[in-house]
Amino acid sequence: MSRVFIGIGSNDGDRLESISSALKALGAAAGIRVVQMAVVSETDPVGGPPQGPYLNTVAEIATSLSPRRLLATLQGIERQLGRSPSSERWGPRVIDLDILLYDDRIIQEPDLCVPHPRMHERRFVLEPLSQLVPDIVHPLLQKTAAVLLEQLIAQPAVPTSPLAL
Ligand code: ADP
Ligand code: MG
Repeated sequence: MSRVFIGIGSNDGDRLESISSALKALGAAAGIRVVQMAVVSETDPVGGPPQGPYLNTVAEIATSLSPRRLLATLQGIERQLGRSPSSERWGPRVIDLDILLYDDRIIQEPDLCVPHPRMHERRFVLEPLSQLVPDIVHPLLQKTAAVLLEQLIAQPAVPTSPLAL
């Protein structure tokens, strides 16, 4: 079983309902067990076109799925909840499910980067992650979630360029 953290966000439709449905779908998927989740918080959108505020949280799961199978499962749940595959990147979405950390694996492929390449500059990821596992170490940056959050608060990041991966 691998220990994985999933970033969950929604800023379109009934946001809380979508997050709750996503958690149910995760729990019902073969090879996935939901271990714990952080508090759901409302956050302002970062980057992308003008859009409404998000609800965000992070869930810890235990899974027997490979990273790629897990990504496919997450994308299936996104579609099942009504996110259209063609929707604008960083635009409003009913649900967004991202693999943040997968054990201490480092994966750098065109359509799958783990740890998630922007997690360390997103307060809406680091807050809930630190709530669950403050001492978890980012395998590339070799810093804990709590330290990354402290650094982000101390030195607010430049907004992510739409051209950045
Ligand atoms: P974002 O989640 O960065 O706001 P999108 O959800 O629109 O943007 O991006 C989806 C694309 O990101 C997918 O096509 C997927 O292949 C890719 N991707 C790369 N790494 C990851 C990851 N760790 N988790 C989820 N999607 C990823
Ligand atoms: Mg995503």
